[in-house]
Amino acid sequence: MVFIEQNDNVLADVSLELLSRARELADRLGVEVEGLAVGHGLQDALAGLGGYGCDRVYFVEDPRLAHFTSLPYAKALVGIIKKRKPRFMLFGATTTGRDVAPRVASTLQCGLTADCTDLQIGEHKFKKREYRDILLQIRPAFGGNIIATIVSPESSPSLATVREGVMQKRELADPHPCHIVHEPCRLEAGDFPTQVLEVIRREKSVDLKAAKVIVSAGMGASSPESLKLVKELAGLLGGEVGSSRPMVDGGFLVKDHQVGQTGTTVRPNLYIACGISGQIQHRAGMSEAKRIIAINRDPEAPIFDIAHYAVVGEVNEVLKRMIKAYKQKNE
Ligand SMILES: Cc1cc2nc3c(=O)[nH]c(=O)nc-3n(C[C@H](O)[C@H](O)[C@H](O)COP(=O)(O)OP(=O)(O)OC[C@H]3O[C@@H](n4cnc5c(N)ncnc54)[C@H](O)[C@@H]3O)c2cc1C
Repeated sequence: MVFIEQNDNVLADVSLELLSRARELADRLGVEVEGLAVGHGLQDALAGLGGYGCDRVYFVEDPRLAHFTSLPYAKALVGIIKKRKPRFMLFGATTTGRDVAPRVASTLQCGLTADCTDLQIGEHKFKKREYRDILLQIRPAFGGNIIATIVSPESSPSLATVREGVMQKRELADPHPCHIVHEPCRLEAGDFPTQVLEVIRREKSVDLKAAKVIVSAGMGASSPESLKLVKELAGLLGGEVGSSRPMVDGGFLVKDHQVGQTGTTVRPNLYIACGISGQIQHRAGMSEAKRIIAINRDPEAPIFDIAHYAVVGEVNEVLKRMIKAYKQKNE
């Protein structure tokens, strides 16, 4: 079962990504994929979920649930989960998912793994007990130094959150018929201790998720001249500017540019890493790019382990040459 998140009745991409992954896992187990949605006037949006492999969606409808607030959403979710008893329950690791999933987990006394980077079905042995067909929740741990597989075999359901962009959204050529099942939920006035009075949106300054080309700056490209060259190359290639986390922490670029474990997960056709060492937390967000060009003056830099093209050199020199070559080619 996947929590179907919505904002202003637009379904969150991460929910569709999770449905796609859930479909693959469900096919392995020979079971169905279900969604769980909470809101008001969502029918039209929910009708399209069959295109992502959803067989059935439970919908708790109430005008007071149009906008997310923690307590009534958690109560609605717990009620349906208790009634429908899914084996696994997936949430997007969004502000909403990170708020509501732990509330659900603690109410149901279930295991919850946050920020999974992969989900598999497998087995686990512990003290002569063998658990089959359980959810293997895979994520970096201890500052990214290990990749941990976390299981909660005796917890029903197992709960996991996954960040946006980590799983791939796959629209099926042959959509499943998706039934919308309206679920009653008794919510009293006392269940709404907070009210949303106004929603103020901040437009994102950059859309890394949709970008086909990303030119990313790390601490080796933090000088004003390097950043100017990075922006120029990104502009020439019709791409966006990405960055490593220290570039954001240091105030060189705003957080919307950050790629990695605690930034955005991207899958562009081309990722050019400029002066980025390639620590695991950065790679977690870009290693699935189709082509990676890395520019670094250190031939031992870990980014070269995953780069398709490795350019050892001073970042400004290499960027200037790339810009010149690109301009000449397009004259
Ligand atoms: C919990 C946690 C979450 C994190 N999340 C993220 C995340 O989401 N994204 C992220 O990026 N990081 C993240 N980090 C930080 C991460 O561990 C690294 O510290 C960070 O990625 C390093 O950034 P960098 O490569 O820009 O800097 P550095 O590691 O300092 O590397 C700079 C590189 O530039 C090269 N260089 C220097 N000068 C030049 C030059 N003139 N020409 C060419 N090359 C040059 C150097 O050889 C070096 O390889 C996280 C860390 C933790 C603990």
